[in-house]
Amino acid sequence: MSRHDISPDRIAETIAWRHHLHAHPELAFEERETSAFVAGKLAEWGIAVKGGYGGTGLVGTLSRGSSSRTIAIRADMDALPIVEASGVAYASKTSGKMHACGHDGHVSMLLAAARQASEMDFDGTIHFLFQPAEEAEGGARAMVADGLFRDFPTDSVYALHNWPALDVGTCVARDDAMMAAFGVFEIRITGRGAHGAMPHEGADPLVAAAQIVTALQTIASRNVSPLEAAVVSVTQIHGGDAWNVIPQEAVIRGTTRWFAKDVGDILEQRMRTLVVAVAEGFGCSADLDYQRRYPATINDAASAAFARSVAAQDGALSVVDAAPSMAAEDFAFMLEERPGCYLWLGARRNGANPGLHSPHYDFNDTIIPQGVDLWTRLIATSLGR
Ligand SMILES: [Zn+2]
Ligand SMILES: [Zn+2]
Repeated sequence: MSRHDISPDRIAETIAWRHHLHAHPELAFEERETSAFVAGKLAEWGIAVKGGYGGTGLVGTLSRGSSSRTIAIRADMDALPIVEASGVAYASKTSGKMHACGHDGHVSMLLAAARQASEMDFDGTIHFLFQPAEEAEGGARAMVADGLFRDFPTDSVYALHNWPALDVGTCVARDDAMMAAFGVFEIRITGRGAHGAMPHEGADPLVAAAQIVTALQTIASRNVSPLEAAVVSVTQIHGGDAWNVIPQEAVIRGTTRWFAKDVGDILEQRMRTLVVAVAEGFGCSADLDYQRRYPATINDAASAAFARSVAAQDGALSVVDAAPSMAAEDFAFMLEERPGCYLWLGARRNGANPGLHSPHYDFNDTIIPQGVDLWTRLIATSLGR
């Protein structure tokens, strides 16, 4: 099947969409204007649109011929609660909201691929999935829960993320883990307040908190196999208001990361045991609120091999290998339902190269032709006549 090159005019138009979306960021589950923008474009090109998946999420469907072969491609639509400092002309018009993860670019590239596909001949069905709330809120899970794959059955599902740590022109699609599973925890330690000069009359929750933070370090180092990956990070400690008062309560918060399910179980079990036992040892009590948020993002090996072969067609992209990331991604929920592949598209800038979630970050528009081309070729190769 021949290449379906996107014209320079269409690249320029795609970049204009990207800048429009960048200037109008919307946070998780509030992507109403973004969703309407996407739905309007898809309808313009004769693509059937169905909304109402995960609130603002929507599906564009394009079918040709008689084959039952079906693929789905997903883009995430949400921005982050960050005050933009990129200085670009099309910077966020809403202070405190910013496309700092490049989802504006992901949406624009998938839209451009959908238009290319609307002019292509193929045999089968494509579902274009536009997802809300990738950042920590699990929009993919919400779409699945609303019947995404029941209403739109698919053989396989794909997604990409721009990756500033990788050179432009490269991509990574591992056979197994791409991104870690993550949990969040809050530990509330209750002691007995006292005058700071008479500590023996109370039970100090701050001392207990300090010991708990130290004890938590032993989970990854003493309980998880050295050959497995695990992270337990305490990121907040709160307690006390005065320099001469031992408070009644202290709060610790943080995050956990892992890949293997049994490692996730160890992290939670050990945390429950340590938190209660250490607090009790200091005459305090502790409550642990532990939530597993996203599973690990694990590619299907056959889908990953297919994605790599498509990426490398005609030397379009250089397929490289890289270690998985301990960051998390809710595309994991789609990969739990259907085989598929999540890949990283190299997006490194020369010179200053702000990372994802930096207030200085701006999606690298030079990779737009590569992203559109990759999706277009994936469609042509999957559903070619
Ligand atoms: Zn992000
Ligand atoms: Zn992202």
